[in-house]
Amino acid sequence: MRTESSLFMQIIQRQRAADILYQDKEVTAFRDIDPQAPVHLLIVPNRLIKTLNDLQPSDTALVGHMVLVATELARQQGMANDGYRLIINCNQHGGQLVPHLHLHLVGGHPLGPMLTHSN
Ligand code: AMP
Repeated sequence: MRTESSLFMQIIQRQRAADILYQDKEVTAFRDIDPQAPVHLLIVPNRLIKTLNDLQPSDTALVGHMVLVATELARQQGMANDGYRLIINCNQHGGQLVPHLHLHLVGGHPLGPMLTHSN
């Protein structure tokens, strides 16, 4: 992972510019700076959890909340009926660049196959 974990923390704490669409005590949602689809949002926990591997049983409600915030944002963005995709990348093989757990919400047009084949 090449980017500092503090990057998203600075966005959450509003020390770095970002297009924040939603924030509560647990999570913050903002537009991805390099969108891969017409709608590309990131939902992140306000507390630093570096990867999926760092989740604890006590984070069960938090993860559920992240997903529910994503589904509400998908509705607000008008994507609920046509559909969308939620993605969490983990570590190097998963393509995680920012070491602060984040849920990608992507949609706004057909997204194609889930993965491209690679050998
Ligand atoms: P991942 O590869 O799953 O770690 O995704 C990291 C995402 O963070 C990428 O889609 C980046 O475009 C996005 N990103 C990096 N820096 C920023 C930033 N300053 N504001 C918003 N999104 C960012």
